[in-house]
Amino acid sequence: MGFIADSLNRIQPSATIAVSTKARQLKAAGRDVISLSAGEPDFDTPENIKAAAVQALAAGKTKYTDVDGIPELKAAIVRKFARDNGLDYKPSQISVGTGGKQVIYNALLATLNPGDEVILPAPCWVSYADIVLLAGATPVFAETTAQHGYRLKPDVLEAAITPKTKWLIFNSPSNPTGSAYSWDEMKLLTDVLLRHEHVWIMSDDIYEHLIYDGLKFCTPAQVEPGLFNRTLTVNGLSKAYCMTGWRLGYAGGPEPLINAMRKLQSQSTSNPCSITQWAAVEALDGPQDFIAQNNAKFVERRDLVVSMLNQAKGLSCPKPEGAFYVYPSCAGAIGKTSASGVAINTDEDFVTALLEEEGVAVVHGAAFAGSPAFRVSYATSKDVLEDACHRIQRFCGNLK
Ligand code: PLP
Repeated sequence: MGFIADSLNRIQPSATIAVSTKARQLKAAGRDVISLSAGEPDFDTPENIKAAAVQALAAGKTKYTDVDGIPELKAAIVRKFARDNGLDYKPSQISVGTGGKQVIYNALLATLNPGDEVILPAPCWVSYADIVLLAGATPVFAETTAQHGYRLKPDVLEAAITPKTKWLIFNSPSNPTGSAYSWDEMKLLTDVLLRHEHVWIMSDDIYEHLIYDGLKFCTPAQVEPGLFNRTLTVNGLSKAYCMTGWRLGYAGGPEPLINAMRKLQSQSTSNPCSITQWAAVEALDGPQDFIAQNNAKFVERRDLVVSMLNQAKGLSCPKPEGAFYVYPSCAGAIGKTSASGVAINTDEDFVTALLEEEGVAVVHGAAFAGSPAFRVSYATSKDVLEDACHRIQRFCGNLK
């Protein structure tokens, strides 16, 4: 349609949001549907954070604020980066936006020109490629495999870099695979990046705190301080603090980039919600012990789901180190026919038939540039997960 901008025709609506919406619609129509498609924890926001929001409301913190964050929140973020990541940012190097998504969007839109390339280790989060395309630049997928724990190999990174590369977007623990890097594994990648001075690094650390089995989180600018001046370290409150609906994300990076991001935000959304910002100060400065309690539950759920999916015919599910996703391969189901006679030629066919026949909503791997596979979010109760995995086992068992 001529009225809609060409740039919009380059992108797709978010596949994860589309699957979640379809599952909600089927449920509303009376179908028995279990949705394992959402990228959010089922736990409620901790009470102390809610109380800080109530207090901010009562105190009349209801006006416009500085575009990219109140000074009190920037100070809390500076403390967080120093405490958790050994990164020494100044308040002028901090940007706060309406979710990690806006921060990433601002950074890409503020820096990309047509012809620029952005390296995305695939499978990767659905939005990176679309934001890059919206900016008129080119996503370059650098493949990772289940055999290597969905971690990018240094030679694959090296081969993906060209004179046109502007950014590498790095995401550990990862959405959709849950894979995470150890310090030594990351060092091999930062060694490559150190040699290519024109490449900037965007590290999306939004799943930082959701890391299991004793693995210690690390981030590129911490592992290689030589990259600090060309790294944007992105984080947010949605996942570990169970605050998806509050919309708050932030980043630390070089001042000229932070200033450009502020300029863009000043002409779009202006400041993130004033009340959310005060709640965020409490989230970052307040008690953190609920994170370990939630993680203990996530580990139990992950282990249940991995074990049950590996018992499903034709599926193979690695056990990831972080986030709340597993990413089973459905290669063994491709070429088969479902109980109701649907040909399963792609992972999209697989998830569509699974939703139709067994009422389980998961997201196809093609949406993450990683096929044939699908993403299961285990951020729901064990009873529900057990029911869903039994249905998946039955669906796979019926494939002919
Ligand atoms: N980055 C990754 C990898 C994500 O999975 C998400 C959310 O799903 C985001 C960023 C953005 O989260 P938010 O905008 O809620 O901070």
